[in-house]
Amino acid sequence: MSVDIRLPSALRALADRQEVVSVTAATVGEALEALCSRHERLKAQLMTPEGALRSFVNVYVNDEDARDRQGLATPLRDGDTVLIVPAIAGGATLAADAELGRAELARYHRHLILPEVGPDGQKKLKNSSVLCVGAGGLGSPLALYLAAAGVGRIGIVDFDAVEESNLQRQILHDTPSVGTPKLASAKRRLEALNPHIAVETHETRLTSANALELFRRYDLVADGTDNFPTRYLVNDACVLTGRPNVYGSIFRFEGQLSVFAAPQGPCYRCLYPEPPPPGLVPSCAEGGVLGVLPGVIGTMQAVEALKLLLGVGRPLVGRLMLYDALEQSWRTLKVKKNPACPVCGDKPTVTAPIDYEAFCGLKEKTMPTHPEITVVELKSKLDKNEKFILIDVREPHEHQIAKIPGAKLIPLGELPGRVAELDKSLTIIVHCKSGGRSARAVAFLCSQGFRAINVCGGINAWAEEIDPSVPLY
Ligand SMILES: [Zn+2]
Repeated sequence: MSVDIRLPSALRALADRQEVVSVTAATVGEALEALCSRHERLKAQLMTPEGALRSFVNVYVNDEDARDRQGLATPLRDGDTVLIVPAIAGGATLAADAELGRAELARYHRHLILPEVGPDGQKKLKNSSVLCVGAGGLGSPLALYLAAAGVGRIGIVDFDAVEESNLQRQILHDTPSVGTPKLASAKRRLEALNPHIAVETHETRLTSANALELFRRYDLVADGTDNFPTRYLVNDACVLTGRPNVYGSIFRFEGQLSVFAAPQGPCYRCLYPEPPPPGLVPSCAEGGVLGVLPGVIGTMQAVEALKLLLGVGRPLVGRLMLYDALEQSWRTLKVKKNPACPVCGDKPTVTAPIDYEAFCGLKEKTMPTHPEITVVELKSKLDKNEKFILIDVREPHEHQIAKIPGAKLIPLGELPGRVAELDKSLTIIVHCKSGGRSARAVAFLCSQGFRAINVCGGINAWAEEIDPSVPLY
């Protein structure tokens, strides 16, 4: 029979931090034996040397005390849940905590003299773990400060390589690591900073298939992602695994910060039940970002993570902080838990990770239904004085750097509010820098009943194939 054994938090440290261990067993005794053979350190906590259950450990089968049935001989059926409930007094824990060594006592001196941290808090940090989703702009300061602070186990999920354009803000990486995997560069830097911690790298895309298992191995999760599908996946997987989600996001000069999915607190979906339609919010690669901005927000995420791990202060649960670098201002808004939230509400409809690409409307992007032309075709239409409207959906400063004569500037984000300016009787040809944003604009215009055509390769193709005097950027 395949059964799930649920471990209390006090015992998880002895079982690779797992909350649920699935085993095959016909009786409660066999199930515990299978559990202990997999995680040997549990044996002394659960069983006497004679093989009996220790008197301060109770075992329940589907919420029924095994002692009221046949004790260790209680038979199990497929799908049964075995719950282990040890006596807990005054927060005493059964887990054997790792102690601080002499070098660590020296290293963490400034923490040890803080009453809010002290030796006990520092030991807590050593015995705790954080999963950073992404080793980019937010993940950089976050992982560096968590490592410096002595968080014992830091996991990082990422699958990108370091690019030159990352170095303006991703301070975990350096010039010699351009072209190498971000994880290798991150691990090297963090271990050089603090050899007393373990850095676990997960070179994979976070998916609905792997998120729950990965999250269960850490005490909390820090969201440093840069796209909506992953952001919703991180949120839902945090709610489903009971891991707090230390959230940060950035755009241009503005940042957001909160702690979601904590017990009693709201989640990201309580704040934003649905993502914006694809294309209307540009990514940082398209919209730009001030290099130090992720430094500010990622550092604040590290503050929240350390507070949660130490159990000190007032965590940012139920509050959303907005940062404006240009104004140099912080604003704090209240966020309420939504009882109708599909994932953390009273009657959740999302009980397992879903297809987030589809949820965020990104699957339509791959459907090749919208017409396109090359820059050569565009040039010939212009030369023949054909009647059409050419619009540029880039940002004003990009339009300043380089433009195609006659193009009307309507930045992508403004397009929905400015469609009235466009004549429906004319064909609309759309370009951007390299064809991505304009494809989204064309999809939007077609949905509004316009005849719209995308320019493949954007103004960069124009600069390369038609007019070399137009700067490439
Ligand atoms: Zn919610």
